[in-house]
Amino acid sequence: MKILTRNILIAFLILFILAGAFSLFIKPTESPKQIIFSEFISLVNEDKVQKISIEKSDLTIELKDGSKAKTLKESESSLTETLKNYGIVQEKITNLNLEIKEPAEYGAWISIFTSILLPFLIIGFFVWFMFRKVQGSQMQAFSFGQSKAKLANGKEKVTFADVAGLKEVKEELKEIVEFLRKPKKFLDIGARIPRGVLLMGSPGTGKTLLARAVAGEAGVPFFYMSGSEFVEMFVGVGASRVRDLFTTAKKSAPCIIFVDELDAVGRQRGAGLGGGNDEREQTLNQILVEMDGFEKDTNVIVIAATNRPDVLDPALLRPGRFDRQVVLDLPDISEREEILKIHIKNKIFDKEISLKRVAERTPGFSGADLANLVNEAAILAARGERKFFNQQDLYDAMEKVLLGPERKSNVLSKKEKEITAYHEAGHALIAASLKDSDPVHKISIIPRGRVGGFTMKLPIEDRRLHTKSHFLADLAVSLGGYAAEQIVFEELTTGASNDLRVATDLARRLVTQYGMSDKLGPRTFGHKEEMVFLGREIHEERNYSEKISAMIDEEVGKFMGNAYKTAKKIITEKRNKLEQIAKRLMEAETIERDEFDLLMKAA
Ligand code: ADP
Ligand code: MG
Ligand code: ZN
Repeated sequence: MKILTRNILIAFLILFILAGAFSLFIKPTESPKQIIFSEFISLVNEDKVQKISIEKSDLTIELKDGSKAKTLKESESSLTETLKNYGIVQEKITNLNLEIKEPAEYGAWISIFTSILLPFLIIGFFVWFMFRKVQGSQMQAFSFGQSKAKLANGKEKVTFADVAGLKEVKEELKEIVEFLRKPKKFLDIGARIPRGVLLMGSPGTGKTLLARAVAGEAGVPFFYMSGSEFVEMFVGVGASRVRDLFTTAKKSAPCIIFVDELDAVGRQRGAGLGGGNDEREQTLNQILVEMDGFEKDTNVIVIAATNRPDVLDPALLRPGRFDRQVVLDLPDISEREEILKIHIKNKIFDKEISLKRVAERTPGFSGADLANLVNEAAILAARGERKFFNQQDLYDAMEKVLLGPERKSNVLSKKEKEITAYHEAGHALIAASLKDSDPVHKISIIPRGRVGGFTMKLPIEDRRLHTKSHFLADLAVSLGGYAAEQIVFEELTTGASNDLRVATDLARRLVTQYGMSDKLGPRTFGHKEEMVFLGREIHEERNYSEKISAMIDEEVGKFMGNAYKTAKKIITEKRNKLEQIAKRLMEAETIERDEFDLLMKAA
């Protein structure tokens, strides 16, 4: 608003300046002096006149001395007649140098134009100019309803070879490509072309990448749009964009429409409050209508991606719509190695590098995390003025991706360093002592990101199923730092608060989701519901009584209490080991796995 008023002010200022300039222009600088007719007569009598220009009744007189004058005559009679009437001799009249001018028609037009039209034109120009500016900042007001789908171009072509792992998913999508290329083969048998494929998987597992690979392989037009682009400030825009997108796509069939982040529009209808929801519903309905409207042989396939399949409207998942659903898992150890291989390709690195070792250390990393890791390693090497990166850079990059950058400048006081050392030693000692816990890979008391230190334990192999005994060991390890602080310093710090939160969450899940409490038995408690207006799980529907609620709290408390007991027992029994680890940590700040194993084996 402020900018608008300022623009208007500037516009008016410029207008005034222009107007001033025009008036200067139009007024002749030296205007002839006006004389009365009788003066003119006497000038003629005195032979002072050089030339007379007549324009209607206006007379412009040029005198012999170079000056100019103006006068008027009667309009009815001609100048010669008038002069005769004034008694001027015929000879003088014929000697007069007369010039008769036709009154200029366009002169009038110019004056009308300059005085009326020009200001309008100028104002018009400024209005248009400002309008364009406002528009530019607030999206194109006129193309609102059109889809902003981007047609993927041939540049940066991605193929299936660029996607590591995900074997089954790739098979499925290759079939789709086949459909698009040779629809006849399938139609002849009577098979229906699939309408939609839904890619589901956590963020960074390669959904967008895969869709781009399909586009690259299929060799058909590929319309890309993100779910959030359908949802705009104005109601109805989303639906009209969907319509536009599908119309355009049908015209260029065979083709692929890719809707990324489908959950932005595809949330369950009627679930939640807020005006934005109406808009989503309309958009979603329109998608459903369009997909139902495909003819049997419409050669358009819709691929959508989401990382929240749980919030999608069930109507989307019905056959005839997204009838193929493909799940993208986090990569396992060999897939991680393959992904690393792909991303390392056009970088310069030490030939001795073992990607397998990196893959071993990165369970739970997504494809995007791994891509990021390789890039961080290259950055670390470049910072160290090295020509290529090595194994250690990869490890350092892994910790950076996992925990944030080291905060070397953040110097701990001696006491803080001691507490942190004992705290981490506590975690490590418990992890090493419980057979159900994963082995310790590294301990560090260098602060990084938001943590003051860390103990990294890594599974020997990737795990998809977790056992109760593994969870119990995890709980005890989590409380190891807390127990160590308590026993060694007989005092607690805030350093353990995150450990406590993680442990409590885990204990609660054991009881309410995994049925691992003996007392409450095999059932789940509570039902998380997605509230649309904040887009996060903030509401937990209670499907149990107050009595059960108290029992849940009791059971959670029991899990935590037992874990604490276990931790305390181990630390008390192996107090000298704890001292050894902590002392070594204070000296070296980090202990790697090999050294830690030796420490634990020593008597
Ligand atoms: P999302 O599933 O969130 O859409 P993306 O497809 O955008 O994830 O993946 C982000 C990046 O991670 C990709 O650009 C790619 O560099 C990398 N990536 C993810 N998965 C893989 C994979 N399977 N193979 C190779 N690179 C991958
Ligand atoms: Mg994506
Ligand atoms: Zn801790």
